Amino acid sequence: MRTFRSILGQGNSCYYKYAKPTVISFREFHVFRDIPELRKHRRQLLLDGKSVGLVPTMGALHEGHMSLARQAATENDEVFVSIYVNPTQFGLNEDLDSYPKTWDADIRRLTKLDEELAQSGKGRVTTIFAPTTKTMYPTLPPDSSLPGTGSFVTITPLANLLEGKSRPVFFRGVATVCMKLFNIVQAERVYFGQKDVQQTVIIKRMVKDFHLDTAVRIVPTEREKDGLAMSSRNVYLGQRRRKVGIVLHQALRAAESAYVMGGRGRDEMLALAWDVTNKMSEQQDGLAASERAMFEVDYLSLADPETLEEVPMVDEQRGAVLSGAIKMLPLEAVNHGEILGLGGDKVAVRLIDNIVLQPTDT
Ligand code: AMP
Repeated sequence: MRTFRSILGQGNSCYYKYAKPTVISFREFHVFRDIPELRKHRRQLLLDGKSVGLVPTMGALHEGHMSLARQAATENDEVFVSIYVNPTQFGLNEDLDSYPKTWDADIRRLTKLDEELAQSGKGRVTTIFAPTTKTMYPTLPPDSSLPGTGSFVTITPLANLLEGKSRPVFFRGVATVCMKLFNIVQAERVYFGQKDVQQTVIIKRMVKDFHLDTAVRIVPTEREKDGLAMSSRNVYLGQRRRKVGIVLHQALRAAESAYVMGGRGRDEMLALAWDVTNKMSEQQDGLAASERAMFEVDYLSLADPETLEEVPMVDEQRGAVLSGAIKMLPLEAVNHGEILGLGGDKVAVRLIDNIVLQPTDT
């Protein structure tokens, strides 16, 4: 018999608006908001010889997150899911306050997944760690400024490339919160999505350089039917921006096709990708404001899979990563009855995606 228990700590004060779990009647999971109780629970599992896989998330769970938890359940007795919107990875002008918080729906999703896992006889999702910001940042309030004050983990130069150029505090925040989560949970394995390729590279580097005793597992990107990478932020895309947002994936696929055909040169591959984004841009530009969805390309990259430095050619022994980011701009005019995203398509939405070009000479 499984124990059905919720353990909630007292220290619930937070520095930032945070959707506190209001419904804790879902008794299927151990829910912790504080560290000592979680540690006690974890220690007992260790004594019982049970392995733990940790899936760190910021909530607003979707099938991408579920695929991480599913894989974790195939390799561990117990899956811990952390749900925490980490303030230090949001720049001062970014969408921390409006980041979707969907606690009840998240619990429903995890419950459904766990029911599925119960049938398969593999590991189970047993535990949710949903800490407060005071718990995660016990000394100083979380700081998103640069250089900022506080205890941070910085992984350079990786954190300054690609996403880091537009989001200078992002990976400092990610590495810092993951270090905290890894120290708290002490999981045998931690699970990250390929969708955030730079994050996977940085976490692997952090684990290696700080000799952390956990194995990093990377899970393939979960996509919508048309190929759009699933993301918690996709809810901000109404029908019009959603349709155009697929351009990033199409651009990367075009570049990949050159690799599949034997091309190895950067210019050749990225030219194909730019061709796709330029065409879509021109097409949208030619439409009326009430019909178009404009976007900006932040970068299209061909980089080394470990250093993430841009490469002129794909090294056949190392392979490479094709990646990109676009910013879907707010709609200029909306039509009566149009299907809009959360927030009425008034905020810009950053979309990222990547394709790994596997080594061909191994
Ligand atoms: P987030 O809640 O967005 O911070 O994501 C938590 C974890 O889920 C990260 O490791 C992400 O890379 C992973 N993830 C997000 N979207 C996807 C996806 N579409 N496919 C696979 N993993 C994903």
